[in-house]
Amino acid sequence: MEIAAKLAILADAAKYDASCASSGGVQRDSSSGRGLGSNEGTGICHSYAPDGRCISLLKILLTNYCQYDCLYCVNRASSNVPRARFAIDEVVRLTLDFYRRNCIEGLFLSSGIIRSPDYTMEQLVEVARRLREEHDFRGYIHLKTIPDAAPDLLRRAGQYADRLSINIELPTQQGLAELAPQKDGAAIKRSMARLRVQIEAARGEARDASRAPTSIPGARPARAAAPAFSAAGQSTQMIVGADGADDAAILATSAQLYGAYRLKRVCYSAFSPIPDAASALPLQAPPLAREHRLYQADWLMRYYGFAADEIASPRTGGMLRLEVDPKLAWALAHPERFPVDLNRAPRELLLRVPGLGVKAVDRLLLARRVRRVRAEDLKRLHVPVAKVLPFVLAADHRPARSALPSPTAAPQQAALF
Ligand code: SF4
Repeated sequence: MEIAAKLAILADAAKYDASCASSGGVQRDSSSGRGLGSNEGTGICHSYAPDGRCISLLKILLTNYCQYDCLYCVNRASSNVPRARFAIDEVVRLTLDFYRRNCIEGLFLSSGIIRSPDYTMEQLVEVARRLREEHDFRGYIHLKTIPDAAPDLLRRAGQYADRLSINIELPTQQGLAELAPQKDGAAIKRSMARLRVQIEAARGEARDASRAPTSIPGARPARAAAPAFSAAGQSTQMIVGADGADDAAILATSAQLYGAYRLKRVCYSAFSPIPDAASALPLQAPPLAREHRLYQADWLMRYYGFAADEIASPRTGGMLRLEVDPKLAWALAHPERFPVDLNRAPRELLLRVPGLGVKAVDRLLLARRVRRVRAEDLKRLHVPVAKVLPFVLAADHRPARSALPSPTAAPQQAALF
């Protein structure tokens, strides 16, 4: 098969994988004249397809043959789709070609499971090894790892990849058992735990190396090369809307994954109906807004100090509101917590004000050291003033009770089955 035809099949097959997280990688560049490419410390610039998916990486599968039969997956063994498989050299060549033509800034490589998890993982690792060792490739590499692969293969993958990810796939063990019975939830978490240990060990060694004293008095301390292991951490993906799990269950699982395995990101991927789908699956995709609201809620957990069950819990229907963002929804449901005094409130309360982001709050805290903050100061913080004012007290501003937008009914999850 022509390589272009393979690319069409295997890039299309990879579009269901969320891969948009790339920040925090180790810095590599070729400005010294050696090597190829660069992976700037701020991460990769992304572009997005009209459906919101990230397309700036060369995002492909090594193969869409798969011996597993996960019901939600277009590549499952029983799926009637055209199949293709890249040779390792073909992926390496494609990556370098696209990179040189400035089309991509890195590679996102995943695969169906062929022969065995170890065999498949070896192939993925070998692509990354050739890129790094034989071509001195310094772009971004994100490898999807096969959860059941041997620990030694995961260790080698981490030496070459900026980020590793293992898909948790579904928010509950029950969902996994029903829709992906060959996948072992415990094995997925075991692999995540192993990666966590290795990532933290490498970071610890890097810290120690940077602090190592020099033995020559007066000499400039030379930094030892830090052992890099998946420097941009590990991430995972959860499919939203393939089973009946509500947003509360999804966010609770995310919170548990962030806490237990120190994941860098959980990606949420709205289930896409696939051809010849099993009857256990919904006929319709969930609204894309649901995926978006979950990303916003996830952001609130990671940067704004919200607990998962504050944002969505079974007590309040379990679903995020689609028409307002989760922070505003929380504020509307808790009028007793407002208004927040811009001149006295601690950082964690300011972070709960709709419209105030982390940067704005930090600038506000600096500003109020030197003077009393007034409503007009909000303009300089580049925040949506009209959104913020109903929720805050300032030196010259006190909102009327009636200024709070009135909450509307909590949304119900559409029936899936
Ligand atoms: S193992 Fe991965 S590629 Fe194979 S059917 Fe399951 S989700 Fe699809």
